[in-house]
Amino acid sequence: MAGIANCRVCGSAQVEQFFDLGGQPLANALVRDASVSDPVYPLSLSFCRECSLVQLDHTADPGELFSHYVWVTSTSSTARAYAEDFCERLLARLGPEQGGYVLEIASNDGTFLKPFLRRGVDCLGVDPAANIVDMAKADGVPTRCGFFGAELAQDVVAGRGPARAVFARNVLPHVAGTNDFVAGLKVAAGAGGLVAIEFHYAKTILEELHYDSIYHEHLCYFTLKSLTRLLNAHGIFPFDLEESPISGGSLVLFSRTSPPLESEKSARLKAFEAAEEQSGANDLAAWQRFAQVSFEHRGALLALLEAEARAGRRVVGYGASARSSTMLNFCSVGPGLIAAIADQNPMKHDLFSPSTHIPIQAPELVMASKPDTVVILAWNFFAEIVGILRQRFGFTGRIIMPLPHPPRAMGMEEASNV
Ligand SMILES: [Zn+2]
Repeated sequence: MAGIANCRVCGSAQVEQFFDLGGQPLANALVRDASVSDPVYPLSLSFCRECSLVQLDHTADPGELFSHYVWVTSTSSTARAYAEDFCERLLARLGPEQGGYVLEIASNDGTFLKPFLRRGVDCLGVDPAANIVDMAKADGVPTRCGFFGAELAQDVVAGRGPARAVFARNVLPHVAGTNDFVAGLKVAAGAGGLVAIEFHYAKTILEELHYDSIYHEHLCYFTLKSLTRLLNAHGIFPFDLEESPISGGSLVLFSRTSPPLESEKSARLKAFEAAEEQSGANDLAAWQRFAQVSFEHRGALLALLEAEARAGRRVVGYGASARSSTMLNFCSVGPGLIAAIADQNPMKHDLFSPSTHIPIQAPELVMASKPDTVVILAWNFFAEIVGILRQRFGFTGRIIMPLPHPPRAMGMEEASNV
């Protein structure tokens, strides 16, 4: 399929397609009726030689993507624990002055604002999914329903002034109007405000073969270089970063809307920038190798699952995440190889994985079917899920860890020590 004509961030025509994953369904569009084949859309990546941004070629309709988003942040205990850490890290960079409020973009069910509210800090969330906004409000988190951009930011600021801090976790890479979104961050944070952006780091995607993080919602795959260039163009200046325990390789980049002195840039940020330049994450050749190894991973994972099937083992999956959708579709794994997927989110139960149509059920139901092997599809929560399998279900069978590459089968004892 054809690549994108112009870079979605800098507008350059120097973009080259390097990875075609074929037609894929929307990764969060879980299916009610497995007898109907769901629509697929092109899924391929290009590299911009001008700003080194890795990006999707095809933009799916954002209304279709987000209005019925079923991922609820607080279903993961790892996410709830991280929300506390995140709050402390952000407050540590805010300085001693009091007052003002903290604004979260794409605040989901309010999990990441609650720690601020508990510390007496005023908050506002913005999220486009009406059903999840209602849940957040019912839970006491002030939340506004809408798609964030410069216009919404101006409206918020007109009502209550600029925020002391604005944060956006795993949302910037998902928005089609990237420049309008960043312009909105600048407006919302006013002069001298703090901006924290969490994003799945392209260098980690490259080095650990996270091709399963490629799906239609995820339009941009930022390095520090490509993100800094975008932020600078809108008057936002990075000065520090932290590694996030979520998503197996995300960064939180802290910036201000006033230009920092070179001495204010942290040693950690400088070290990451230097390592990134060495890694090839800003070079097309490294991404072409990434595509090639992803095809090798597909062969290796299929060989593992086919060996389980030949041995007569019952195989189930754990974690019906968006990322699992890409992997299952890219590898053409259906109910013949993975009989069911366990997921803790009740909103996903009795639905089927997009296109591959594997039934999604409560973990209790899936584990009651006495599986021999569990594939940890949400492998970025590997330790948490292995702990649940051991403690809640007394599972002693085989575990398949699909990523990092190469995929591996192991016993529970080994899995407990990963
Ligand atoms: Zn570009």
